[in-house]
Amino acid sequence: MEETKGLVLQSLDYKDNHKILYLYTAVGHQTLLAYGVKKMNNIQRFLSQRGSLIQYKTPKKPMDSLCDGELLNGYDSIKEDPTTYTRMLHILELVRHVIDDHSNHPKMFQFLVKIFDQMNQLKDAELYQYIFELKLLHFIGYGLNFKQCNICGNNKDLVFHPSSGGVICRHHIKDFSVTYPYDTYESLAHLYFIDISQDTPRQLSSTERSHISDIIALLYDEFVGYQTKSSKILQQMKKI
Ligand SMILES: [Zn+2]
Repeated sequence: MEETKGLVLQSLDYKDNHKILYLYTAVGHQTLLAYGVKKMNNIQRFLSQRGSLIQYKTPKKPMDSLCDGELLNGYDSIKEDPTTYTRMLHILELVRHVIDDHSNHPKMFQFLVKIFDQMNQLKDAELYQYIFELKLLHFIGYGLNFKQCNICGNNKDLVFHPSSGGVICRHHIKDFSVTYPYDTYESLAHLYFIDISQDTPRQLSSTERSHISDIIALLYDEFVGYQTKSSKILQQMKKI
């Protein structure tokens, strides 16, 4: 029997006891019906929770029913911490709304599982969120330029300029441009290029984190145009 692994991105109630599951897999997005999972005595109830990694019989058609489902990872440590869990939900929302059908799904699926594994080991979830967001930009075709001024090609005296998607030399900064100092774009490049299967992200100060978070928000405004509900919740949590 052929089986598929999938991450539950979203789970919506359907009639009295059923759910519609939106999953992301190594072959892309899948939608399945999970019958009876809301009944208290249904042992498959936990399969329909957002953020669970599950395995099931490969569906033959869209909206097939979930068959022979089993839980591979419930990411319990992530779910124990409200902030970390909100970061996970933010990532799941991005996957659901930003990744289209023609993407390199095997690569993205593998990467996502690695990100959640790291977060589940109680690593610095904030940095893994930034790594995901930066690499997602590259993945959907908005790679950032860290090498040279994207106007004149100069590679000296550079600052990071979010709305042009990379570095720019001081000569080409317009008065109204938002820019960030060299240290910040060095940290940004570190997170953008890191291979998380080999390396752990280095520690960043709270000022650097806050700059990076602002830059990513500007980049997403400019190039993605989609803000997740969870990112709004994360902003509110920061203010408390
Ligand atoms: Zn220039």
